[in-house]
Amino acid sequence: MVKGATMLRYTGNPFMDAALSALTAAAELTDVVEIDSDDLKSATERLKDVLLSDSALGIGVERSFNRGSLSQIFPNSKLVNPSVKDPKKAKEEYKKLLNGLLSKSMESGDKSCPICGQRFREGEQKVKADKFPLLRGISNFYPELSEGLEICPLCALSIQFFPFSVLRAGERGRLWFIHTQNARLAIAIAKRFGWEHFERLVASRQTLDFHGSWDTSGEGGAVLSLFFHLITEMPEHELSIFESPHPVTAYVFTNDNRIAYIRPIPVPNEILIFIGRLWHESSYALRRFHRELLTIPR
Ligand SMILES: [Zn+2]
Repeated sequence: MVKGATMLRYTGNPFMDAALSALTAAAELTDVVEIDSDDLKSATERLKDVLLSDSALGIGVERSFNRGSLSQIFPNSKLVNPSVKDPKKAKEEYKKLLNGLLSKSMESGDKSCPICGQRFREGEQKVKADKFPLLRGISNFYPELSEGLEICPLCALSIQFFPFSVLRAGERGRLWFIHTQNARLAIAIAKRFGWEHFERLVASRQTLDFHGSWDTSGEGGAVLSLFFHLITEMPEHELSIFESPHPVTAYVFTNDNRIAYIRPIPVPNEILIFIGRLWHESSYALRRFHRELLTIPR
């Protein structure tokens, strides 16, 4: 890779793009194209601080996030694989994986990555749905009868950030995330409901899970609640996110080996604009809309 060249761009793959938004949020940047190798390193450290914390590994807390909720996304990662029973060993293995990918992320080669299109050296690990969500077909149906898709180290590292863009629709509900060209919206969600949420739980030594404590009904209710909480908690200068001309697609999914599933929910940009205008005109009216139409009383 040429020094100073743009390392990362959105790809059109919803999982990868959500991962890139979470990576951008971790690096505290506003655009994925600004990420350089130093940002990648600092974001990876931030990722380790959460996923390798005692709270995530299940040490001193009720249950392991990595073996529980996270395994719905990466059912066979180093953090989940039952062959690595000892959490300390799992920690070392995962660190080794991240450091290896990080050191290879700047290399170039002859092969073209099927996800991002960048050149990389042949012979990288092949990935299937256990390492890249929903990358599955009719039994091992990958190009040239290969046992999986060979992706570049930078994509293999970036996809590790995907969980920080994921939410839960209700306490025991399904997992979901959004895909949109409104990148600032996606980054704002990963910042508040991914990173800040997980880091707060780690700091207070609580069991981790995806953010999903809104008392609402169904996945549609979760999408509207997300926008409501975002607009009421975000600083004034970021509110232009709600004037976006771009629609959003929310994806409800699980990558569980037995019951892999994905369902798109199209969200017209008029909904964002409506919420933005209502907030601007009358914060009382928006709060009332939330309370009376979205919230299920306990
Ligand atoms: Zn790639």
